[in-house]
Amino acid sequence: MSSSIDVQSCSECGFVQYPPREVCRSCLSSDLEWTTIEGTGELLSWTRLNHSFEAEFQQQLPWDIAQVKLDKVSCIIANLTIENPSVGMKVIIRQKGDCDNPQYFVVANE
Ligand SMILES: [Zn+2]
Repeated sequence: MSSSIDVQSCSECGFVQYPPREVCRSCLSSDLEWTTIEGTGELLSWTRLNHSFEAEFQQQLPWDIAQVKLDKVSCIIANLTIENPSVGMKVIIRQKGDCDNPQYFVVANE
């Protein structure tokens, strides 16, 4: 895993967006590409998922999920791997997988 992550960006205006979409959220261009950004940010909130009606998610329970603010992306949702998380703490998003199937994990920025 690396401390940089792949996110979608607009070739027309340079806007960086998450989650990926068919068009740019800023200028509606469909000329989108993948770009690598630094995965450092701040923990905005987190929750623990204890129940799910989806069979594939039930295997991961309890599942801690975080909302993180990065410098270039206002909010990203990721798997939380920190034992005692606190809102406002500095964190790093790490990515597993490629652009077609990325998985994001939040770890402490020590
Ligand atoms: Zn754009």
